[in-house]
Amino acid sequence: MASGMLDIHCKRCGSYVLSYWKEGTGRLVRMYFDRIQAARGEKEGICGPFPTHLTCPNCTHRMGTAVTPEPGRKAYRMIPGTFRRKKSE
Ligand SMILES: [Zn+2]
Repeated sequence: MASGMLDIHCKRCGSYVLSYWKEGTGRLVRMYFDRIQAARGEKEGICGPFPTHLTCPNCTHRMGTAVTPEPGRKAYRMIPGTFRRKKSE
């Protein structure tokens, strides 16, 4: 599977959380902040002030932790088993 848009859902309650542009193949280990396409109308909540954790907007299940893998670039390190990914349509 090549690069493409993924929809990320909470594994616990199934809620849609956000969409992410993933480069290349393989597991989703990190989500770079500048490639997150927030849910409509929710960009402020998810992407506004950089939150320490990525949580499900519905059930507050924790799915990721904020990290700075490169200077000036932020990302969420995803917690394995907390989310489901689906190819976006
Ligand atoms: Zn949830």
